Amino acid sequence: MNKFSDRLQRLSFSQTFVMSNKVREMKAAGIDVISLTLGEPDFDVPDDIKDAAFAAINNNFSHYSPVPGFMDLREAVCEKLLRDNHLKYEPSQICVSNGAKQAILNVLASIINDGDEVILPAPFWVSYEEMVKMMGGIGIVVQTSIETEFKITAAQLEQAITPKTKALLYSSPCNPSGSYYTYEELEAIANVVAKYPQITIISDEIYEFINYEGKHTSIAEFPQVYEQTAVINGMSKAFAMTGWRIGYSACPKWLAEACEKIQGQMTSGANTMAQKASITALRTDPSNYGYMIDEFKKRRDIVFSLMKEIPGFKVNYPKAAFYFFPDISYYIGKTINGTFIKDSDDFAMLLLENAHVGSVGGVSFGNSNCVRFSYAAAEKDLKEAMNRIKSFLERAEIS
Ligand code: PMP
Ligand code: GLU
Repeated sequence: MNKFSDRLQRLSFSQTFVMSNKVREMKAAGIDVISLTLGEPDFDVPDDIKDAAFAAINNNFSHYSPVPGFMDLREAVCEKLLRDNHLKYEPSQICVSNGAKQAILNVLASIINDGDEVILPAPFWVSYEEMVKMMGGIGIVVQTSIETEFKITAAQLEQAITPKTKALLYSSPCNPSGSYYTYEELEAIANVVAKYPQITIISDEIYEFINYEGKHTSIAEFPQVYEQTAVINGMSKAFAMTGWRIGYSACPKWLAEACEKIQGQMTSGANTMAQKASITALRTDPSNYGYMIDEFKKRRDIVFSLMKEIPGFKVNYPKAAFYFFPDISYYIGKTINGTFIKDSDDFAMLLLENAHVGSVGGVSFGNSNCVRFSYAAAEKDLKEAMNRIKSFLERAEIS
């Protein structure tokens, strides 16, 4: 007897966690593995944010918060959206969630019926396709390649639209490609979507501040799609608060209450101390936390100069987020030290087992030619990881 739901059986485990767990097991067995698997800042939470959390505990913010978050936090989110993104929202349009992950799920759960299509420009973040499946929808993958910085054009988007298209879901800056869409590119995409009022754009902007050119645009800034856009953001990346689990959505009024309704039956309001601490984080001048971005930028350049010397790696120069997504298709279909490589997941596993460097294969990001490396790691580990991969591939028997 099969006790499991069809929904569960449609899903895969999150590949980011699968690979990071493998690294953890190898480390526990005494193997010296360098993990470039999980995308999370390796910094500690800044002290002013921690102090705000301690104060929240001491001031007994220990009861349920309103489902969409404390009013002062939602006000701080609105101030941030106006300050950084020229976007006008009222607190009633904000829903604070357990991470951006839940904020995306709230929106999908609010709009997706069985069989609805969600356009996913590839490469996409691992959880998007699975979340769409969880809600009964169908992910429609639009392919890109390293030659175009992994970005879709407005024309490609329009070609993928059918009467069943309900949403467009993407991240800019993008996990895993490290690219971001420019103002002009987003304007062209907005002009297409505006022609199809049944489509909602889910714009995941969680890497907004990790943009080395500092030119982030939110697609909601284009008035023709404001009413069709859910902006997703959160505290995990810019403030190194991954474990604190605070994210949020900013939605048009018709959608905001729906998110609150879903969340109210799932998890209620997010953790109260982390909510209070998030107010401090959002109200502080972002340049105060800029030291983390400077460090990521330095590491990006180090990894770029080393990675492009690795044989068989095609590398672009990522402008944002903290990932490299090199094309390793040179190795696909070949046998390396006796192991046949059918896709980039096999290649990531080969690197883990032989070079002792953890990465995440591209298959679950919608691209089986590329492998993702997070460079949110110490400089010395990044250098050592690149050296290990290079010397392994230089010595490997390849046929
Ligand atoms: N979106 C993207 C593109 C991500 O990389 C992540 C990774 N954490 C998330 C959403 C989820 O973030 P959170 O920790 O806020 O749930
Ligand atoms: N978003 C991070 C990553 O892509 C954290 C893991 C996850 O949430 O999947 O590695």
